[in-house]
Amino acid sequence: MSIELQLRVEPQVAYESARLMKHICSTLKVAPETITEYRIVKRSIDARQRRVMVNLTVKVFIGENAPDNLMYVPPVYRDVDASARQAIVVGAGPAGLFCALRLLELGIRPIVLERGKDVDERRKDMARIARENVVDPDSNYCFGEGGAGAYSDGKLYTRSKKRGSVEKILGVFHAHGASDDILIDAHPHIGTDRLPEVIKSMRQTILRHGGLVEFGTRVERLTVCDGCVTGAMDNRGRVYEGPVVLATGHSARDVYQMLLDAGIKIEAKGIAVGVRLEHPQNLIDCIQYHSPQGRGRYLPAAEYSMLTRVGGRGVYSFCMCPGGFIIPAASGPGQQVVNGMSPSNRGTRWANSGMVVEVLPEDLTEFEEFGELKVMKFQEAIEKSFYEESGRTHNAPAQRMDDFVNRRPSKDLPPTSYAPGIHPARIDRLLPERISSRLIEGFREFGRKSRGFLTNDAVLIGAETRTSAPVRVPRDAESLQHVEIAGLFPCGEGAGYAGGIVSAAIDGERCADAVASYLAENKE
Ligand SMILES: Cc1cc2nc3c(=O)[nH]c(=O)nc-3n(C[C@H](O)[C@H](O)[C@H](O)COP(=O)(O)OP(=O)(O)OC[C@H]3O[C@@H](n4cnc5c(N)ncnc54)[C@H](O)[C@@H]3O)c2cc1C
Repeated sequence: MSIELQLRVEPQVAYESARLMKHICSTLKVAPETITEYRIVKRSIDARQRRVMVNLTVKVFIGENAPDNLMYVPPVYRDVDASARQAIVVGAGPAGLFCALRLLELGIRPIVLERGKDVDERRKDMARIARENVVDPDSNYCFGEGGAGAYSDGKLYTRSKKRGSVEKILGVFHAHGASDDILIDAHPHIGTDRLPEVIKSMRQTILRHGGLVEFGTRVERLTVCDGCVTGAMDNRGRVYEGPVVLATGHSARDVYQMLLDAGIKIEAKGIAVGVRLEHPQNLIDCIQYHSPQGRGRYLPAAEYSMLTRVGGRGVYSFCMCPGGFIIPAASGPGQQVVNGMSPSNRGTRWANSGMVVEVLPEDLTEFEEFGELKVMKFQEAIEKSFYEESGRTHNAPAQRMDDFVNRRPSKDLPPTSYAPGIHPARIDRLLPERISSRLIEGFREFGRKSRGFLTNDAVLIGAETRTSAPVRVPRDAESLQHVEIAGLFPCGEGAGYAGGIVSAAIDGERCADAVASYLAENKE
C-alpha cells in the first residue's frame, strides 16, 4: 500500500534523507523496516515567517515498491522515416523542439530548420562576445540549438494554469536527462551547465525517430500558393515543403521584416525594458530568509520577485537568477543587451534579475512612423544608445543602485559577474525618462518592502530589452493558423504566445496538434 503525507519540516529534515526517514516513521508511528521506500513528490520553501520551513508531499510505500511512472508517463515517439506527412519547424528553441517531439508522437516527420549552430559549437561564439566583442548574428545567446533558453537559468516555472501540460513538459525534460528535482520543486530549474546535454538528447530523439534537424539554415522566405503557405526557403535557396511552424523567438527581427515584406499581417505588441540588477547573493539570502547568517547549509540560494505599478505601468523583476551570472545577450552587431543565467547549483556569489518597466505600443508616439515595428525600433534605439556609450564594445554601462535612485554618478563600481566588464555611466540618463523615473519609484518601493534591498552594494547593468516579443503574429484561436494565411502556424515567444521556456514548449506542442488537424483536413 502507499500513503501520501503532507509534512512541514525544518530545512535540515527536508534535505537529509536519514532525518526525513526518522520524521516519516514518527509521523506514521512505524518502524523504519516497515517502509519499503518513500518518494518526495512536491517540495516548496516557505520563507514568509521568520522561521523558514519546507513543505513536502511524500509518498510512502509499505510492502511494495514505487511504480516506475510515479511522476509521469514517458511519451512514446513513433518512427517517422517513412511517414507521408511532414511539417517544417523553423527554430530549435523550446517551442520548436517540443513541437518537433510532439510531431513524432503524432507520426508526422518534423523538419527542423535552425539558423544557428549546434549547442556545443554555439558556446564558442558566445565566448567570443566577451573576449573579442564580436557577435555572430546567427550564433549567440539568443540564436542556435536550444534557442534563447539554452544558456539560461533553465527556470521551469510558469504562470500557466494548465497543470497537465506543464507536467508533460517537465516529464519530457526529465526523460531527456534533467534531474529528478524538476519534478518535485515548486520552482524547478535545470541550470546552464546541464541544459545543453538535455537539448542534445532531444535532438537525438528527433533524429533517431526519422526527423531532420538542419543547422546553419536560416529561413528567409515562405513559399505561398493560392493564399496558403506550402513551405520555406533557406539562405542557400533550398526549399522545404510542408506546413510551417514559425518558432523563431523574440530576437529574430529579420523574420518580422520578412513577414512584413511578404504582406503577412503582424501587430505591434507591448514589452518591458530596463536593466539587470545585481546584488551579492548573501545579501538576498539574509533578506529573504530573515537571518543575518544568510541561507545556512541546507537552503538554496534565495530568490525574489518584485512587482508594483508606477504611473499606470508595471514595474517588476524579471527572470531572477539566484547564484548566477549576467551575460551579454546581443543577437547582432551594434547592440548592448544583458540577460542572466545560473548553473544548476546556483553557486556564484551574485544574485541578478531584470528590473523592467512595461511599455505599450500607444506610449511610443515618437516611433509612430515605424508602424507595426515601432516597439521593435524603440528596443533597438535603447540597445544602440547603450552600445554607443560603451565605446562600441560590450563593456557595459553600470551605476550603483542608490546612485541611480538619487540620480548621481557612481564614483566606483562593485565586483560583478558580467564577464565583459562594466564602467560607470549615467543609466538614469541613458534610459528613456519614462523608464528611469518609474524604475526609481519602483526601487524606492521595493526598498521599503524589503529592507536592505535598495543599496549601493547593488549595481544596475544595461540594457535589459529582450523580455518578450515586440510583435505579435496574429493567429486563429482554434486552428492556430495565421489569421489571414493557411498553413502558417505562428508559435512560441517570437509570435507573442509564450513568455518563457515552459510556456514556449507548451505552445510548441499545441502547434504540433494543430498541424496534425490541418494535415488531416487537407489530405489529397
Ligand atoms: C540568457 C537568457 C536566459 C533566460 N532564462 C530563462 C529561464 O531561466 N526560464 C525561462 O522560462 N525563460 C528564460 N529565458 C527566456 C526563454 O529562453 C524564452 O522564453 C524561450 O527560449 C522562448 O522559446 P522559443 O522557442 O519561442 O524561442 P527561442 O528560444 O528564441 O528560439 C527561437 C529559435 O529560432 C531560431 N531562428 C530565428 N530566426 C530563424 C530563421 N530565420 N531561420 C531559422 N531559425 C531561426 C533561433 O536561432 C532560435 O534558436 C531566457 C532567455 C535568455 C536569452
